[in-house]
Amino acid sequence: MKNITVLTGAGISAESGIRTFRDSDGLWENHRVEDVASPQGFAKNPVLVWDFYKARYQQSLDAEPNPAHYALTRLEEHFGDSFNLITQNVDGLHIRAGNTRVYEMHGRLAMAFCSSCRSKTATSELDFSQKIPICTTCGGNMRADIVWFGEIPYYLYEIDEILKNTDFLLILGTSGVVYPAAGFVMTAKIFGATTIAVNLEEPENRRYLDEFYPGKCGELVPQIVDKLIQNYGGR
Ligand code: NAD
Repeated sequence: MKNITVLTGAGISAESGIRTFRDSDGLWENHRVEDVASPQGFAKNPVLVWDFYKARYQQSLDAEPNPAHYALTRLEEHFGDSFNLITQNVDGLHIRAGNTRVYEMHGRLAMAFCSSCRSKTATSELDFSQKIPICTTCGGNMRADIVWFGEIPYYLYEIDEILKNTDFLLILGTSGVVYPAAGFVMTAKIFGATTIAVNLEEPENRRYLDEFYPGKCGELVPQIVDKLIQNYGGR
């Protein structure tokens, strides 16, 4: 069985109504990323940062997975343990669509952790009558379980192993600008994978791609998934 790895970015959720950075000139829902996605931003204005993540969390609950997300659940059904999905997204839509082999490398809106004792709590369990939710274990300030700029993404060791052992890397809806994810294509390519991307615009790391399909994930991903299943079988 061929090993198939998928890397997704904000573009795959655009057709679910969640905006990407590039849509809005490098702003995240009208905020500068350093204000809402950095430890310094949180230290400066924790109330603003919590208001931002509460709104992002609610938006993610209101959104529905789109045909591209569902195509990836079919890919996992067919390829089982030979399938892995690495996402830079924090919206939880891959898991809601039914994928289980998901590495949420930038964290998840659905969880929070204490900035003092690091104990984790589901965002749905937080007491939002307080402007900054307080840790029920130690009284510290809770923060969103999001990897902010300047912090180390999750699962980097596991991801490196996956990339070195994959036959295909499918890169969907990502600008190829944000590292380290933008460099994953190089690792996969050096270790012999075929690299394929779908994006509205040409990604920055185009030269490492064997195939690039310009267009919308919701339209193109189901077709690519059908071909992979047809050609490489799976279950
Ligand atoms: P990005 O905003 O840098 O790039 C998204 C890319 O998707 C753009 O190149 C754009 O042309 C493309 N795109 C937009 N709509 C598309 C569609 N329908 N089909 C195909 N491509 C489409 O996003 P990124 O590269 O993922 O990195 C930015 C960071 O932003 C990530 O780390 C992520 O954590 C964070 N972010 C996440 C979400 C989310 O969870 N949905 C949303 C915004 C930002």
